[in-house]
Amino acid sequence: MIIESSIPAAREWVLEMRRHGHRVGLVPTMGALHRGHLSLVEAAKRQCAKVALTIFVNPTQFAPHEDLAAYPRPLEADLALCRNAGVDFVFTPEVAAMYPTGAVTTIHVAGLSDRLCGPLRPGHFDGVATVVAKLFNILPANAAFFGEKDYQQLQVIRQMTTDLNIPIEIVGCPTVREADGLALSSRNVYLNPWERIQAVSISRALFAAIEGIKHGERDASKITDNIRKEILAAGPATIEYVSAVDAVDLTPLTQFDRRARICVAVRMGKCRLIDNVAVDVP
Ligand code: AMP
Repeated sequence: MIIESSIPAAREWVLEMRRHGHRVGLVPTMGALHRGHLSLVEAAKRQCAKVALTIFVNPTQFAPHEDLAAYPRPLEADLALCRNAGVDFVFTPEVAAMYPTGAVTTIHVAGLSDRLCGPLRPGHFDGVATVVAKLFNILPANAAFFGEKDYQQLQVIRQMTTDLNIPIEIVGCPTVREADGLALSSRNVYLNPWERIQAVSISRALFAAIEGIKHGERDASKITDNIRKEILAAGPATIEYVSAVDAVDLTPLTQFDRRARICVAVRMGKCRLIDNVAVDVP
């Protein structure tokens, strides 16, 4: 496994692999790797001969009050996981190389970035879209793999890639969960043991919602109200949103009458948790 922090060397590795006829898969991450990230590597390995993973805690996607300094950075453990998973190339750029003095360009994906988490995390999706576009230019892979766990991020990246004619296929991969249903996240380490138990209410409420819809409920506000109630019944929490949205453009729905997504953001203690489920109405 090659570990590289130089931008020109990383680009050259991908180009060299492609000159040899290899399909290259890219897995962008902020590190603190868990089974969710590794599922992206597995998907990439199934579809591509070579896999590059990036570890970069991107400062521009953190708002000033957020956890940039505290974000976990267990680099050696991450590299061991990558080696075990069969990653071929790990790119670990420095912040100063990604954002040299004088860099001023940002990408704003209008509409999609302004919904759900957008107003609560000002600048977040511009930071994501910009860094992902940069990574796509640095590592011109054939396909890039992202988790549905961050569903709004996935849709923002799909739109950005289409709009900017970036020749990389975007592959969305299912959310990996703990046995009790909690979606894996690098930020789950912030949960204390009580909050960890309480946090299961989020996925439990989302799965119950899917059951309700399967049994014929189509009223989005009834479904989202029940989700709120179930989460708040589990203990103290601040619900930032529970929203039923169109699966493509993330506009709010009143009825489940098309392919949809139910998205949730909740604060429990120091931890901000997000989760979502697909609603495939027959
Ligand atoms: P992050 O390191 O949090 O920026 O995440 C890097 C990638 O891993 C993103 O595409 C995430 O959507 C994905 N990811 C994070 N958690 C999970 C999960 N539980 N299941 C699947 N993918 C995930």
